[in-house]
Amino acid sequence: MISVADRFSSRRADGFAQRTQQGLRALFAVGALWLLASCQQPQQIHLISGETMGTTWSVKLVDLPSGATLTSVREDIELLLETINRQMSTYRPDSDISRFNQAEAGSWHALPADFWRVIRYSLQLAEDTGGAFDPTVGPLVNLWGFGPDPKRNEPPAAAELAAIQARVGYQRLSWREADQVLLQPGDAYVDLSAVAKGYAVDKVADLLLGIGVENLLVEIGGELRAHGVKPAGQSWKVAIEKPLPGVREVAHIVAMNDMAIATSGDYRNYFQAGERRYSHIIDPRTGHPVSHHVVSVSVLHPRCAEADALATALTVMGVEEGMVWAEARQLAVLFMVQSGSTVEEHVSSAFRRLTAAEARP
Ligand code: AMP
Ligand code: MG
Repeated sequence: MISVADRFSSRRADGFAQRTQQGLRALFAVGALWLLASCQQPQQIHLISGETMGTTWSVKLVDLPSGATLTSVREDIELLLETINRQMSTYRPDSDISRFNQAEAGSWHALPADFWRVIRYSLQLAEDTGGAFDPTVGPLVNLWGFGPDPKRNEPPAAAELAAIQARVGYQRLSWREADQVLLQPGDAYVDLSAVAKGYAVDKVADLLLGIGVENLLVEIGGELRAHGVKPAGQSWKVAIEKPLPGVREVAHIVAMNDMAIATSGDYRNYFQAGERRYSHIIDPRTGHPVSHHVVSVSVLHPRCAEADALATALTVMGVEEGMVWAEARQLAVLFMVQSGSTVEEHVSSAFRRLTAAEARP
């Protein structure tokens, strides 16, 4: 028998992605992840939690290496998260990313290691997705009211949109690998919200593995990574829920064997104007929020940064383009798509394989 021990749908206002419009819809939204624990747990799971990036983080540990205490582990994690925020938070005017975004045209910037890794990966993904994923999307995110700028409740005027879109485009950025520098071409505004939480999950997991913790689960704002096993020896498991109003239907249970999972979707943050809902996920190719019927995309990947970025990229692509793209790369993805009053699932073959393996005795 399996019982529900924990849930990850309580996302609060997000410093990175300002997830402020939650409410009931989000509670029942697709992609809500539930941690499942067995009925019998002879050993205790240690829980540490806190706040970062405008949302919450939590870590579950089964074993503590000798010499470490929960307090020392918490301090290490907080220090690490602070370092990431100091580099990549667009909500901090003095962060490295904000200084880059405000810098003069033509100036080169030596980036600290984490920022460099995340922007390099984001630029590679931008190329690979033909710009569906784009770390320079920031001015559009802000224009549509989903960044540090004030929120809005109606779309911007076409002329305003055109002016802002001229600032967007990953091809505008140049970099030099040798000394890890990035060129500010003028008015480029980098936004790494689509990948930063996943990256932070990886850093926390790596930190814990590095000090000798073997059985752990790390979660930031709903993005997760797990290693080892729970006290009774079973895998960590997450259940992905279907968003049927008033019904809690578990669509998939996934064993997390050295695995990460991230979910993107328009249910997380949006504004409504008339009949239309405007998502915080923007298609940089059009300048508009995504407008297809993808409710959410979940991606399984050994690393959470990749899972996080890919989930956002696939949300932009939509189920048809996205599924072909994901299959070509053997990615494990699950799309939930609104179809009338129901939600349809579309899974890639890698996702099917991973979840089928779990169903075996
Ligand atoms: P996530 O919740 O991981 O899907 O990230 C969504 C956040 O990523 C948004 O709030 C924006 O800050 C940013 N974003 C929106 N659209 C894109 C895009 N097409 N490419 C990269 N980042 C995006
Ligand atoms: Mg993402």
